[in-house]
Amino acid sequence: MVTKAQPGGRASSAPLLGNGTEPTIFEMSVAGRTAYQLRSTHVPATPLHDLVPAAHLNEQVVPLAEVSERDLVAHFTRLSHRQFAVDLGAYPLGSCTMKYNPKFCDAVAADPGLNSVHPGAPAALTQGWIRLMVDLEEKLCEVTGMAAATLQPAAGAAGELTGLLLMRAYHEARGDVRKRIIIPDSAHGTNPASVTLGGYEVTTIPSDDRGLVDLEALKSVLGPDVAGIMLTNPNTVGLFEEEITEIAAAVHDVGGLLYYDGANLNAILGVVRPGDMGFDIVHMNLHKTFATPHGGGGPGAGPVAVAARLAEYLPGPKATKLADGTYGWVKPASSIGRVHGWHGNAMVLARALAYIDVHGGDGLTRVAQHAVLNANWLRQRLSAVLPAAYDRPCMHECVLTASGFKHDHSVKALDLAKRLMEKGFHAPTVYFPLIVDEALMFEPTETESLQTLEAMAQALEEIAIEAATTPDLVRNAPTATPVSRVDEARAARQLIPTEDAAQR
Ligand SMILES: *Cc1c(COP(=O)(O)O)cnc(C)c1O
Repeated sequence: MVTKAQPGGRASSAPLLGNGTEPTIFEMSVAGRTAYQLRSTHVPATPLHDLVPAAHLNEQVVPLAEVSERDLVAHFTRLSHRQFAVDLGAYPLGSCTMKYNPKFCDAVAADPGLNSVHPGAPAALTQGWIRLMVDLEEKLCEVTGMAAATLQPAAGAAGELTGLLLMRAYHEARGDVRKRIIIPDSAHGTNPASVTLGGYEVTTIPSDDRGLVDLEALKSVLGPDVAGIMLTNPNTVGLFEEEITEIAAAVHDVGGLLYYDGANLNAILGVVRPGDMGFDIVHMNLHKTFATPHGGGGPGAGPVAVAARLAEYLPGPKATKLADGTYGWVKPASSIGRVHGWHGNAMVLARALAYIDVHGGDGLTRVAQHAVLNANWLRQRLSAVLPAAYDRPCMHECVLTASGFKHDHSVKALDLAKRLMEKGFHAPTVYFPLIVDEALMFEPTETESLQTLEAMAQALEEIAIEAATTPDLVRNAPTATPVSRVDEARAARQLIPTEDAAQR
């Protein structure tokens, strides 16, 4: 049942927080209502036909919601209170690095000198912006040990596709047609998806019982048709690939390239660099490692950095310091072309540079050290309740298993995660990586205090007792949140785009 919101107040049957139905903005719409009031200027309005050429004029009325500004703000404020956000509490969603985003980065991005510039403005008028991008590119290369970078890709997955297109361009320039990309079975789903989009075939290799790449299995699938391998290090079970130099040598020996999925860069910032491990191409998720807004918070950015031999293929035009000392846009010699409109998600780039500059090299190293310390603290603290899938020190995240709960109490990883939300923490990542039964992947990040980690561990200990004594409480959780259990299959298959709401 949907209740209309009362103008100036909250939805009649919806408490401010918690359960209750919030109407859609279209259901709140009243014909003729507007969100502004302007004084009359007595200047006759120019007919639309005089302003817009007839060919571009849409005669059809666009079904937009008509609400007052007050109702509009109340609606979205109510909705915002139904979310869990990085600003509200610990968000240990493994592999996503949901760290707190410092507000000074937003202050930088709010500078009108940056955010009022049109991306199409000529280089002569946007020297500061181009210099910012050159500066960011150099710093990202320093962090990763690479020679050059593109800032265009909009996210990690877009960076992966860009990296694969770079691999293809590199091999094809040598008249070398290669077909396969190797991926470990613990990889993130975007890796094989990007390989397919990039026109390559996936060869999967198993992890060994340490949770690491099985070097012998890797060697057995290498050959002259292998374009490269995609890896993240630390890998997706949060463990450092100890044989990374041997892996790199084996792939390079057959003429393949190494792609570094930088999603886990937070673990190694300022400590070790992908370039020094032997990687040729790296993507970074600025919205993970460099604390720019993530997910619903806005667009991301997935810059790709490469070794010198791949620089000529990078997307362009690229922000460049020219010979005369000014800044401009240059297309690399054998560029694969654009992978994003304009220059990428620029305000994200500005925030990331602010984050890097304020931390400095030693600050970034401390970020990694504290991220790793926090994850190991949590792994150790929870070991009696939720054992680690691989019993050894982890990097910035720990993968625990709830298979004992499933076996003893028919309580699954999903149930534990849902119940944790009711105790005031965001859920960890569940059922990833796929190779761990009933996986719960916690990435506390460096921004959580010892007190917060302790409170989260205590909440999980309480849930463990509940699972044994009142398992239905855990199986049916959450009941105290605005939305309880949803039918996840139906949610994915029967999409109702909001635009339709106006017609319903
Ligand atoms: C997040 C993530 C990606 C994809 O990055 P997006 O920025 O979400 O597109 C790829 N690999 C791993 C391991 C990740 O955690």
